[in-house]
Amino acid sequence: MNYVSTRNNSVKVSSAFAIAHGISAEGGLYVPESIPKLSAEDFANLSELDYKGKAEYILKKYLTDFSNEEISYCVKGAYTGSFDDEKPAAIAQLGSNINILELWHGPTCAFKDLALQLLPYLLTTSTKKVSDGKKTVILVATSGDTGKAALEGFKDVENTEIIVFYPSEGVSPMQKLQMDSQKGNNVHVCAIKGNFDDAQTGVKKIFTDDEIKATLAQNGMEFSSANSINWGRLVPQIIYYISAYCDMLAKGDDLSDGFNVVVPTGNFGNILAAYYAKEMGVPVNKLICASNANRVLTDFINTGVYDRNRDFYTTMSPSMDILISSNLERMLYILADGDDKYITELQNNLSKDGKFTVNDTVLSKLQNLFYGACCDDNGTLETIKNTFDKYGYLCDTHTAVAVNAYEQYLQQTGDSRLVLIASTASPYKFAKSVISALSDDIPESEFDTVEALSGLTNTTVPTPIAELKNATARFKDIFDKADMYNAVCKCLKID
Ligand SMILES: *Cc1c(COP(=O)(O)O)cnc(C)c1O
Repeated sequence: MNYVSTRNNSVKVSSAFAIAHGISAEGGLYVPESIPKLSAEDFANLSELDYKGKAEYILKKYLTDFSNEEISYCVKGAYTGSFDDEKPAAIAQLGSNINILELWHGPTCAFKDLALQLLPYLLTTSTKKVSDGKKTVILVATSGDTGKAALEGFKDVENTEIIVFYPSEGVSPMQKLQMDSQKGNNVHVCAIKGNFDDAQTGVKKIFTDDEIKATLAQNGMEFSSANSINWGRLVPQIIYYISAYCDMLAKGDDLSDGFNVVVPTGNFGNILAAYYAKEMGVPVNKLICASNANRVLTDFINTGVYDRNRDFYTTMSPSMDILISSNLERMLYILADGDDKYITELQNNLSKDGKFTVNDTVLSKLQNLFYGACCDDNGTLETIKNTFDKYGYLCDTHTAVAVNAYEQYLQQTGDSRLVLIASTASPYKFAKSVISALSDDIPESEFDTVEALSGLTNTTVPTPIAELKNATARFKDIFDKADMYNAVCKCLKID
C-alpha cells in the first residue's frame, strides 16, 4: 500500500515515510492510494478478536511495510494497561437506539488517547525504517486535548522531543493544568498569545520552512507531527469504528438498515476515520458532522462554500474551536477523485482569500455522505441537562454538541435508525461548564467543582483527573504568536 500527497499524487511513499514525515514537502497530506475493503470473512475474523487483535488486523491492511512483529509490538505497547478495563472504546446505550461510543477511558480522558498512545510506537518504528536514526522533533498545535494526549504518549520516548503550542486563553483550566504539569525529560509546553488557528498556522509554517529544516538537520534532528494531519494519527481512529460495529452486532443491535454516526468535529480527523470505516465495509448510513458556534463545516456542507472569514468564538467545547479543518483536505481529495491540481487550487484559495467553493459534483457527493448541524453554548448546556434528565447519562460539552446535532437531524429527516454517537471527552475535563448545565451552585475552584459534579450526578471522577489535584505547573512561558520559531529553538537549545 502506497501513500500519495493530496497536492501532488506523483509523490508516492510508504506508510513509514508518511508517518515519519507527517506532511508532504509541498504541503499536501498523505492518503492511502486505495481504501482496503473488508469481506464477510474479515468481519467474522474480527468479531473473534479483542481490541488489540482488531487493531493488529486492521493496521496490517494499511501499514503493509511494517512486519507483523512490528505491528504487534506497537499495538501491545499502546493498548496494554493504559485504558480502563483494557477497553479503549466502550459503548453505553441510551434508550433503544442510541449508542454512545465512549472514547475517553485513557490516560488523558479524551478520545485522542486512542491515537496518541499508538502514534509514538508507529512513529519510532517508522523513523527507524526511513530516517537513519535522526532525532524526531514532534511539533503540536493544540486546542487542548491533543497537546496533553501527545505529551502523555511521547513523554520519555527515546530519540524524540515534543513541543506543544496552545492558545493561552483558549483551553479549559483543567486542560491547562494537565499540560503545564506534564512530566518527562523530552517535553516542552508553550502557551501563545493567539487562538488555535494561529498556533496551527505557525506550526505548519515551521514545518515547511526550509531554513529551519536545514538547521534541524545540522543538529541531527527532523520534524514530525502528532497532529491529525499525520496518517499515524488517523489510522488508529478507524479501528474503533470497526470495533464499535462488531460490538453492536455482538450485543444484538438491529443493524439491517445500517447505522448513522455522529461526530463532534473540529479538525475533521475523527469523522474522516468514520468515513474510512464506512468505505472499508462498515454499514454506516449518514455521517453527521456536529459543530459548535464555529460552524464553518456546517455551512460548508450546506452550501459548498468553505469560508473562514468570520468571527471566531471561544466556546465551552474548545477542542472544536477551529476554523481551518485540516483533514477536510483528505476528504476533498477523495471526493474529487484524486484530482491533486484541483485540491492545490482550493487550498491556495484558502490560504490567499480564506475561502474556497467546491464544484457541483463534489458538493453533491459531500451532501450524500454528510449531514452538518451545529449548536451554540446554550444548546450545549440544554442538551447536557436534557440527556441527564432523560437517560441519567452525563456527557461532556463536545459530546453534547453531537447529541444536539443528532436531535436536529432526527427532527429534520425522521431517520430514526440506530445511531452511534462518538463521545470524545470525559465530562470531568470540562467540569465547570458541565455542572453549570445542571446547577446554579458552582464552586469557585476547579477541584471543588469536580467533586460537586460527582456528588450531584453520582458518577465517578476518572483517576487522571483526581490525581491532578496535587499537580504543580512546570511550564509558565507565554510566547507571542510571531515568536513560535524562537520558542522552538529555545526548547531544542539550537540557534
Ligand atoms: C479533538 C477533539 C474533537 C474534534 O476532533 P477532530 O478529529 O479534530 O474533528 C472533539 N472533541 C474532543 C473532546 C476533542 O478533543
